[in-house]
Amino acid sequence: MITFENVTKNYKTSTRPALDNVSLHIEKGEFVFLIGPSGSGKSTFLRLMTREENVSSGSLTLADFQVNKLRGTQVNKLRQRIGYVFQDFRLLKNKNVYDNVAFALEVIGKKKDKIQELVPETLEMVGLAGKANRMPNELSGGEQQRVAIARAFVNRPLVLLADEPTGNLDPDTSDEIMILLNRINRLGTTVVMSTHNARTVDDMRRRVIELQLGKLVRDDAHGVYGEMR
Ligand code: ADP
Ligand code: ADP
Repeated sequence: MITFENVTKNYKTSTRPALDNVSLHIEKGEFVFLIGPSGSGKSTFLRLMTREENVSSGSLTLADFQVNKLRGTQVNKLRQRIGYVFQDFRLLKNKNVYDNVAFALEVIGKKKDKIQELVPETLEMVGLAGKANRMPNELSGGEQQRVAIARAFVNRPLVLLADEPTGNLDPDTSDEIMILLNRINRLGTTVVMSTHNARTVDDMRRRVIELQLGKLVRDDAHGVYGEMR
């Protein structure tokens, strides 16, 4: 599903690579935690997959996309196959829950009847069927993140990328979000999630990829956050 082959990313202004010769493979349907201290390259790793940034050297493939070689409209096609969830939710403040999710389909030109089928179904799945007409500021942080997950998942992406999705949530709410991401993963979606949340990583026992100063320093099939205890 995803292959990094000797991927290095140098930003113009930085003295060391943000990612330094990273090679790894992620299979379809895997759930992967991406961990490492601030500045270790986690966001860069995610942004290369969506082509918000491009590699400086090496190659990166995602499904049928040779990501580092895409141009123009092909980048849009790639992004349509990827769902993205952020720490700070990034909902549209002036749209209600339903329209936040519907908008993701409208911008890619989905037919109205398809939208009217997919949006309620997806809101149901994330547990927000009763809140379709609420505005984002009427929702708790956990509910806002569910909307964001619904928006990311409504087009049934191949891959869901989540950048510290529980970073702004309390422990119980984080657990609920993890249950939801787990469910999405079990439906066959590959999930890559960056996190600083040790407890969540330790609870789930999924694959753990650790970066330090841009280098891949650990890749455990059923890892924990810290060193093996
Ligand atoms: P993390 O997400 O693990 O905090 P980042 O990928 O954001 O790590 O950053 C990795 C390194 O790249 C850091 O040294 C950071 O300062 C640098 N970096 C990240 N984004 C940029 C950018 N747009 N321009 C210049 N340097 C950047
Ligand atoms: P439009 O008038 O923009 O073509 P619709 O007729 O689908 O769109 O819906 C009008 C508004 O009603 C939507 O923008 C949405 O906020 C709300 N809405 C539509 N369908 C539902 C639904 N199944 N559940 C809750 N709210 C809905």
